[in-house]
Amino acid sequence: MDKLGIVVPCYNEEEVLKIASEALRGVLDDLIGKGKIARDSFILFVNDGSRDRTWELIEEEHAAYPARVLGVKLAGNVGHQFALTAGLITAKDMCDVTVSIDADLQDDVAVIEEMIDKFHGGCDVVYGVRKERKTDTFFKRTTAQAFYKIMHLMGVKTVYNHADFRLMSKRAVEEFSKYRETNLFLRGMMPLLGYQTDSVYYDRKERVAGESKYPLKKMLALAFNGISSFSVKPISLIMGMGLFIVAASFLALIYALISFCTGHVVPGWTSLILSIWFLGGLQLLAIGMVGLYIGKIYIEVKQRPRYNIEKVLTAEEKQENV
Ligand code: UDP
Ligand code: MG
Repeated sequence: MDKLGIVVPCYNEEEVLKIASEALRGVLDDLIGKGKIARDSFILFVNDGSRDRTWELIEEEHAAYPARVLGVKLAGNVGHQFALTAGLITAKDMCDVTVSIDADLQDDVAVIEEMIDKFHGGCDVVYGVRKERKTDTFFKRTTAQAFYKIMHLMGVKTVYNHADFRLMSKRAVEEFSKYRETNLFLRGMMPLLGYQTDSVYYDRKERVAGESKYPLKKMLALAFNGISSFSVKPISLIMGMGLFIVAASFLALIYALISFCTGHVVPGWTSLILSIWFLGGLQLLAIGMVGLYIGKIYIEVKQRPRYNIEKVLTAEEKQENV
């Protein structure tokens, strides 16, 4: 039977912690009752340097349910993506499959069962995808949609409307832990693992209590990080623009020469306008070229795994099967 670990990053979540713990314990008991997960499955709360009573509450829950509720205390606040990574990597050594979910229960815990079913069906990563964004403000909805579109244009593969509510098998977390980059954008990294994936759909609710820990500033930082950590396309765009302007300067040359010959120009205009076009284009092109190399250095320093071997058929294995 597979042991499930539910990983919950928490930053100043004293208002929702007990509610979350109760709801998630309910989910575990239900799944254990149905024989879908092991009896010793657990919830792992990661305290991301909260300044309120979050950690005390986690300790209380652990004291009340020593095997069911576990905790990790980070020394300081490192942000959602790192807190979640710390939780996943800690949990992977204690269980066979993980589910990550926010503490505020905006994501529907009821679909965890469906995720487990898909895991048993052979998926290593199952994305929780929200159906609609009814509960979000107009502003959050439009900015989020624009973000996915821009990501897509920049060639970053992400699952539309999926945040960090996700099932990952032990081996998926293990492979993920080989990605040693510090500019983390988890949802962009999952498709890189290459394993079989699927999605489950749910309606995202309002926060149970407390306020969003993702103000506009953090959201913009996440979006910018997402694009700049996964794509060197902006550099190619600059280079393309440089090429275009150099090409256009040749058209400008023809135009300027005709104007010059027909005598409609102020002395000095022709040489000036040509220099402006040509040099401007040349500079952009050169910056783009330098950028291409920087882009390559960037990709190299990440030292991402180059491949992920899922299975090898060896001679011994074949004999075993005979
Ligand atoms: N969170 C965290 N560290 C932070 C900010 C947020 O661990 O620095 C956690 C937070 O406790 C919650 C999850 O990340 O469990 C998502 O945050 P929130 O619900 O505030 O974001 P929103 O749903 O508003 O985008
Ligand atoms: Mg939330």
